[in-house]
Amino acid sequence: MRIDILTIFPEMFEGPFNHSIIKRAQNKNLVEIYLHNIRDYSKSKHKNVDDYPYGGGSGMVMMIQPIADCIDELCKERIYDEIIYTSPDGNQLNQKMANHISGFNNIIILCGHYKGIDERIREHYITKEISIGDYVLSGGELAASIIVDSITRLIPGVLNDETSALSDSFQDDLISPPVYTRPAQFKGWNVPSILLSGNEKEIIKWQYEKAIERTEKRRPNLLNRD
Ligand code: SAH
Repeated sequence: MRIDILTIFPEMFEGPFNHSIIKRAQNKNLVEIYLHNIRDYSKSKHKNVDDYPYGGGSGMVMMIQPIADCIDELCKERIYDEIIYTSPDGNQLNQKMANHISGFNNIIILCGHYKGIDERIREHYITKEISIGDYVLSGGELAASIIVDSITRLIPGVLNDETSALSDSFQDDLISPPVYTRPAQFKGWNVPSILLSGNEKEIIKWQYEKAIERTEKRRPNLLNRD
């Protein structure tokens, strides 16, 4: 999968993309991430990427020209499955959406800043708008990092144990059961004895029951879906 990210702060991705699973996925060539600095596409004398809003009001708006030129250039090279804009008023990211996107070959993710981007980009270029929650961030870079992380770990071959992503919360509309590791006793707190029994069938049954119990308690909405 190829991911092209449009940003005015490419350095913000150095942390999230150069460690752990995303790094490993890139090393294995399962995902290719390209960062494009929107400023490089600005045709204005001072390489501006933002301007005052028409109609007045506070804050600046990201200009249409540098973003449009960058997307046009990318689209000349290949067909994109989605051109995503990170936006607080977009559809909220969830596991189903991550699963869906992880099956694509090429996507663009556009990170906004300031008051947002010129609306005409949203109307004429963007095919999907994704929010990571009902709060406002200063820019789309953290949201883009979260989107990339959630989809990369779902690409087959990225995680060592293939079933590991499948058994995560939300994958089957259930919350994960509790997990434990050694020691079996700590400060008098014991690991549930069933997990030490070696009885695989009973363990799977226990894990399923716990998953249902947790989902009923913490996310009952998941159980009511059709
Ligand atoms: N004025 C806008 C907010 C702009 S915040 C509004 O009220 O809706 C600046 C940029 O940060 C946005 O363009 C967007 O790319 C990003 N951003 C902010 N909050 C976000 C969220 N919850 N999810 C995804 N992206 C977000």
